[in-house]
Amino acid sequence: QRMQGSTQTTRTTRHQALGLLHEFQHAAATPLYVLRQISEHMAVEMRAGLMTEGKSSLLMLPTFVENLPDGNETGLFYALDLGGTNFRVLRCLLGGREGRVLKQEYEEVPIPKILMFGTSEELFDFIAKKLVDFVNREGDEYKPRGGRQQTVRELGLTFSFPVKQTSVRSGVLIQWSKGFLVADGVGADVVALLQRAINRQHGPKIEVVVLVNDTVGTLAGGRYWNEDAMVGMILGTGTNACYVERDLPAHANSSTGEMVINMEWAGFWSSHLPRTYADEQLDSESVNPGQAGFEKMIGGMYLGEIVRRVLFKMAGEAALFGDEIPHKLKEPFVLMTSEMSKMHADESSDLRVVGTILRDVFGIQKTELPTRRIVHDVCDTVTLRSARLAAAGIVGIFKKIGGDSWDSPHLSGTSKAVHHHSRVTSTGVGAGKTMVAMDGGLFEHYIQYRIYMQAAVSELLSEAAASRLVIQLAKDGSGIGASILAACHSKYR
Ligand code: BGC
Ligand code: MG
Repeated sequence: QRMQGSTQTTRTTRHQALGLLHEFQHAAATPLYVLRQISEHMAVEMRAGLMTEGKSSLLMLPTFVENLPDGNETGLFYALDLGGTNFRVLRCLLGGREGRVLKQEYEEVPIPKILMFGTSEELFDFIAKKLVDFVNREGDEYKPRGGRQQTVRELGLTFSFPVKQTSVRSGVLIQWSKGFLVADGVGADVVALLQRAINRQHGPKIEVVVLVNDTVGTLAGGRYWNEDAMVGMILGTGTNACYVERDLPAHANSSTGEMVINMEWAGFWSSHLPRTYADEQLDSESVNPGQAGFEKMIGGMYLGEIVRRVLFKMAGEAALFGDEIPHKLKEPFVLMTSEMSKMHADESSDLRVVGTILRDVFGIQKTELPTRRIVHDVCDTVTLRSARLAAAGIVGIFKKIGGDSWDSPHLSGTSKAVHHHSRVTSTGVGAGKTMVAMDGGLFEHYIQYRIYMQAAVSELLSEAAASRLVIQLAKDGSGIGASILAACHSKYR
């Protein structure tokens, strides 16, 4: 009698949970017409952000990077890459066109959580110490053969937060993001912060010669190998893109007529975005409410947390995991996106992996298959939305730089599109290809993510246009790219 009763309950509640799932899927849906509107809006906001300050959700920051690497760079350079969950120091010996990257070493260090909530001085002291230790371990194989021993180590700083640059080697922090709640630093010159911290170590001479966003480092890293690279993008903890702009506003003072623009698309906003209750809650309880709205729907820092919030609602309103809400399910950010992607990738007939992760992460001892199926579908919905929104953004950029207008009469009709068209071709872009140099864990490790993203790009573009847009992994590009850009902007050679 009791058994029967409880089975009954389970069935009704599961029915309710399915209702909640469908509601969520509906609110998070990204049909093609919505993606079209978003990509159009991206292009519109790009123009607005370039021409005006504060009139667009995109900051469209001039980077003062006017020259990208061409492969001829030589010498020993360092880079420091800060901005996600890890930071990384690396050295790179460049051998020019023939030798390319002769030798390269790096070290990756997780940023202690406590430093994300401290002061900028504490954060930079920690980093500078690791950097100096790393430089001190430089092996003899980096000594120039026969040449003079280098006395100053030149360094490219990759700093993956919005920075208003005043030159290629200086810029002030606009705001922290991705969970960093450092007490100060906003308004400070990040190069000065790092340089002072390095000097406090009283170690070898290290000089910061270039400051770049991680997207810009990634673009440089991609361009080093492939001259079609026009866009740099990150789909990792956070998300952002930069690209080569030829239609520059006056405040982006350029001598070459082109400059890399850091879009800061984390902050992109459009009323077309499919926002759900989970996004609203996540935003209002975040350390930066009202900011980075696009990133909060796309970035790896947030996907697992969105899933958790949906499951939490299902647990509370439809007893998805039994009469009580599992304690751990109440804890923000317990579900990492990496775990979520494992649940999503579970292809076993009994969704075994989903069961294991629900147990290990949320302490839910036993779940039935239909429940695990619902959990799997929530992961799928959140990932699908992220990937499709990222695709809409990529297509928006592609349109802005005229990449799609080659065989599309309704777009090449304007003189602007034609103008871009010829400029793009004249710089020798091979067979009209535009390469997006991409880095970040979502793109690199999450296979289904890539599949969803590429599919959406293909839906949005004609077959011919889609075949010219090449999205390529530029692994660790942001760090290597920064060291190569340090070579491009060297003071001592
Ligand atoms: C930052 C960007 C950065 C991106 C990817 C965002 O939160 O605002 O500057 O490029 O994350 O790391
Ligand atoms: Mg990074």
